[in-house]
Amino acid sequence: MDCLFCNIATKKVSSEIVTEDEDFLAFRDIYPKARIHLLVIPKRHIESLKDIGGRDSDLIGRLMLKVAEIAREQGLEGYKVGINVGKKGGQEVDHLHIHLLGNA
Ligand code: AMP
Ligand code: ZN
Repeated sequence: MDCLFCNIATKKVSSEIVTEDEDFLAFRDIYPKARIHLLVIPKRHIESLKDIGGRDSDLIGRLMLKVAEIAREQGLEGYKVGINVGKKGGQEVDHLHIHLLGNA
């Protein structure tokens, strides 16, 4: 399986990484739609929000905590968090990712 965001997670494809730990990676969206536009991903390949189940509750919970922590570190007072789900939901890259967008 050739997945762009798996390749970003393993550094086969370069990206502008903002922060990283064992389970998650945050990097700058290549076409930013806000002053700060980051994508936060689990390193483990999950195709979409549609594919999560009870076994992922810990990972998804920690993913949301990570997003809030990154927003704080970026000095954002307010921001938007979004997930596109499935082709019909505007998802272009089939690896679960959270858009973090903020201007202030
Ligand atoms: P989505 O439409 O939710 O699947 O969002 C995919 C996002 O990935 C878009 O906002 C793209 O601009 C972004 N993107 C695509 N390729 C790259 C890349 N190589 N590095 C960083 N962001 C990318
Ligand atoms: Zn992947």
